[in-house]
Amino acid sequence: MEFYAMVLSDFNKPLIRDKIHLDNPQGNEVIIKILAAGMCGTDLGISRGIELKPGFQLPMILGHENVGEIVSIGDSVQDYNIGDRVAVYPAWGCGKCRWCRGGFPNLCPYQTTPGQTGYNGGYAEYMLVPDYRWLYGIGSLDPIHVAPLVDAGTTSLGAVKKIVSSVSPVSTIIINGIGGLATYTVQIMKTVMPTVNVIAVSRKDEHLEFAKKLGADIVVKPSQLKETVGMVTDGEGAQGAIDLVSSSDTVQMLNSVLSVNGKLVLVGAYGKTSNIDVFTTMVYQHSISGSNYGTYQDMIDVIKMYSMKRIKSYVVERKLEDANVGLEAISSGTVLGRQVIVPD
Ligand SMILES: [Zn+2]
Ligand SMILES: [Zn+2]
Repeated sequence: MEFYAMVLSDFNKPLIRDKIHLDNPQGNEVIIKILAAGMCGTDLGISRGIELKPGFQLPMILGHENVGEIVSIGDSVQDYNIGDRVAVYPAWGCGKCRWCRGGFPNLCPYQTTPGQTGYNGGYAEYMLVPDYRWLYGIGSLDPIHVAPLVDAGTTSLGAVKKIVSSVSPVSTIIINGIGGLATYTVQIMKTVMPTVNVIAVSRKDEHLEFAKKLGADIVVKPSQLKETVGMVTDGEGAQGAIDLVSSSDTVQMLNSVLSVNGKLVLVGAYGKTSNIDVFTTMVYQHSISGSNYGTYQDMIDVIKMYSMKRIKSYVVERKLEDANVGLEAISSGTVLGRQVIVPD
């Protein structure tokens, strides 16, 4: 089949609308018609030649937050039929390593991700999924609102779980960086552990207003963080922090306001390196960990949270041809919520 896609042919250049060819699916393969493709900050990074996973090759069709309708299936596909509407889990593990066997394909060192390694993503009219086992049927749920759950929602749940498993239910948790991802991180934190005190941090007033709407208890600019944390925790410090920016400065800032045994989870990837206070980190036993996507089950759980109306999606729709407008908006940080490409 032939269709149109927005293709990244060169770094730091606009995506180009181009005709793509796909052969009929074989074996476990499935072709979906894209109903909605979420746009992620990582896509902007890739388009600039940074945040590239090993194995990345140009040209590439970006997009790893995909929901579509199945239009064609290989002869080994089970459980799914033509016409089914599905979300596509994006961390395609090898299926053979210790992490995949343990149910954590998002930790697989050999994983492929649509739009990032090996396979094209969803900034397109159609997309090939190499294995039906990465699909999840969404029935009559709104594809435009489900698409960002595939990564932004799932990644948020993955990060939130790393914090809530080890903190007191009345602890103070910081969420730094109120962009598209935070839309879900704040809501999911307050849904999973409603009694925690969430401090949202952003440099922009309108983003802080948005964070309040999402459920943050306190909103502050970075310059006010230290004083605020000291005040609300009686000098104890925050038991947890999720850094959706992870620049060299923000990692330092958040680590410096953690409590004894505090947990810092890095989700953003803006900084290449960061200096932290080694003595404080060691003596007060801080933990700093990374978080990348969540598990396939996390994706299902977050879609269920949405269908149970525990969390909402805040989306700005874009036409496929306007993918470059969307990347520009991510770059300027002007969007509150998540952008979703909806092909005609
Ligand atoms: Zn992403
Ligand atoms: Zn693996």
